[in-house]
Amino acid sequence: MSNTPYPQSYYAASANPVPPRPALQGEVETDVCIIGAGYTGLSSALFLLENGFKVTVVEAAKVGFGASGRNGGQIVNSYSRDIDVIERTVGPKEAQLLGQMAFEGGRIIRERVAKYNIQCDLKDGGVFAALTSKQMGHLESQKRLWERFGHTQLELMDQKRIREVVACDSYVGGMLDMSGGHIHPLNLALGEAAAVESLGGVIYEQTPAVRIERGANPVVHTPQGKVKAKFIIVAGNAYLGNLVPELAAKSMPCGTQVITTEPLGEDLARSLLPQDYCVEDCNYLLDYYRLTGDKRLIFGGGVVYGARDPANIEAIIRPKMLKAFPQLKDVKIDFAWTGNFLLTLSRLPQVGRIGDNIYYSQGCSGHGVTYTHLAGKVLAEALRGQAERFDAFAGLPHYPFPGGQMFRVPFSAIGAWYYSLRDRLGF
Ligand SMILES: Cc1cc2nc3c(=O)[nH]c(=O)nc-3n(C[C@H](O)[C@H](O)[C@H](O)COP(=O)(O)OP(=O)(O)OC[C@H]3O[C@@H](n4cnc5c(N)ncnc54)[C@H](O)[C@@H]3O)c2cc1C
Repeated sequence: MSNTPYPQSYYAASANPVPPRPALQGEVETDVCIIGAGYTGLSSALFLLENGFKVTVVEAAKVGFGASGRNGGQIVNSYSRDIDVIERTVGPKEAQLLGQMAFEGGRIIRERVAKYNIQCDLKDGGVFAALTSKQMGHLESQKRLWERFGHTQLELMDQKRIREVVACDSYVGGMLDMSGGHIHPLNLALGEAAAVESLGGVIYEQTPAVRIERGANPVVHTPQGKVKAKFIIVAGNAYLGNLVPELAAKSMPCGTQVITTEPLGEDLARSLLPQDYCVEDCNYLLDYYRLTGDKRLIFGGGVVYGARDPANIEAIIRPKMLKAFPQLKDVKIDFAWTGNFLLTLSRLPQVGRIGDNIYYSQGCSGHGVTYTHLAGKVLAEALRGQAERFDAFAGLPHYPFPGGQMFRVPFSAIGAWYYSLRDRLGF
């Protein structure tokens, strides 16, 4: 039996200790079988267990092995597409519902951390940094838009004000969201997994779902066992492969890379980000960064369409970091890794049901730390028969990528090149 380890990330090196979890051997019965122990799977498991369901999670590798244990750790509210785009796509009624939910995921994370005493270096405050006046104008309209849906805690920052929170001279202004923030993502996932087990949920690691037997009584087959369930939740996201072929056609795994410096020490760290907020810029292919609990800088950026692993991650990301912070030129990089997120053409999550009993949520297209926590709640509501919020997501239309399986990667890369050129030229 395979034993897939975590990638060699800063998060794996600083993970809280956890007991080993067995692989599934033999046959078990449950109410809900969840495929994948990232945030989508774990959040679903927690809400379901809190509502009296019996839950079994099968994870191909380890808890948080996917994007949930590798991401930038930024609690970014809302979705990867603005609500006005959603409104134009699905109309005002559904947009109202989705707009109201746009900041709920961040609240769920904080509730989970408090309720289950999860040690994950939670910090408040996230900054969207504008590199051009056009981007600043976009943030101003985004603030007005979010306020229409009741999210009023946002502060616009001019050039002088943003310089007080981030020591980078590239920004013309920005927006501060104090309901954003950051976490140690793997420790959040591990804490949520422990919470699942404390409520009687069972998690099998090194247990890939290799086949789903559909029908009135669905069965998830694994290499050495099977799970008979009333419902299945598919939460494998960019690591799912072709287990559910109808999902794979309308989504594309993409890689993004992250580096972590050596510890900077209190003074240097505070000089970069005095209030310890996290930052992401407003470019199409954006840079994102923050401090860790032990005062390293975590810096991420770039996208590899089709999720190939780049040979030298440091060579790609370090120049971006030095462009933002030239003062780090002598600082050593201790960790560099890549992770996959799932892109949809609309950049909106792909949510729905296959038949009566197989549910899925995936494809939040880059910003998923908050959405996946919300998704768990919305999926659990649907399984309890309250599907209004689930239906709002399930009604979002999805389309195959242009170019089909063969050409979707180069076509998307050309599209991204075009948009990042516009960013560089300030259009
Ligand atoms: C490098 C990186 C940086 C990011 N930074 C941010 C950020 O700062 N802020 C933000 O909001 N979002 C960020 N994201 C996106 C965010 O991390 C994801 O949207 C989110 O974690 C997805 O969670 P998930 O549970 O849906 O998927 P994942 O966390 O990928 O979990 C899927 C799990 O399913 C398992 N699995 C797959 N197939 C099977 C199978 N057949 N059987 C059993 N198990 C299976 C996988 O092993 C994996 O553990 C980032 C993503 C990456 C990759």
